[in-house]
Amino acid sequence: MRIVLLGAPGAGKGTLAKDLVSYFKIPHISTGDMFREAVAAGTELGRKVQSILESGSLVPDEIVNQMVEDRLKKPDCQNGFVFDGYPRTVPQAITLDEILNKMCKKLDAVIHLEISEQAVVRRLTNRRVCPKCGRIYNLISMRPKNDELCDDCGVELIIRDDDKEDVVRKRYHLYTEMTEPLIDYYQKKNLLVRVNSEIDHQIVASQIIERLKKVRT
Ligand code: AMP
Repeated sequence: MRIVLLGAPGAGKGTLAKDLVSYFKIPHISTGDMFREAVAAGTELGRKVQSILESGSLVPDEIVNQMVEDRLKKPDCQNGFVFDGYPRTVPQAITLDEILNKMCKKLDAVIHLEISEQAVVRRLTNRRVCPKCGRIYNLISMRPKNDELCDDCGVELIIRDDDKEDVVRKRYHLYTEMTEPLIDYYQKKNLLVRVNSEIDHQIVASQIIERLKKVRT
């Protein structure tokens, strides 16, 4: 199963990806996580993209596309993948089609998680992350047991730089401008599945899995 998740930052792509990973036994490819790992590890790529990530802008297409092409060659992508945060622009989508064509593969479905700007700001400014294990919390919907400490590590939770309100609004507008044209792109290819992601996460996940089971049969 080869899936792309589209949706504004905070639409719930990461959480949904985890459900799809465990149901379909495919890897989760989050380009945002890959960049954050490179920054944390201080690699050459990390040094190149650090300030771009902090400002909430997009990393240039050539850098993202190359990283994705290398990732897709790894053996765990043999039976599929779920992309989260890629493609983000029409040129990236065209490149992804080209990469998959070379591998004689194609996408099975593109899921669009629909959400308003107001809901995105509310979700993201309340998101907290454990700096040690990466576990994600939300002060409204998924609170840690004690204050703002990780349930697993006891470490104080942090706010990602790009979850601050002004950066969140910038990322949302960038999404509307750069990524929404992808909805048209994939609609024309008859791959698009639209879902309202403002409702309960479990309902969203089971609706999508039901739809995807039909795509596969
Ligand atoms: P995310 O966690 O998906 O919101 O990504 C965090 C940041 O990584 C974004 O704000 C961008 O700076 C960068 N990034 C992730 N994926 C892409 C992509 N497909 N194209 C360009 N930049 C990206």
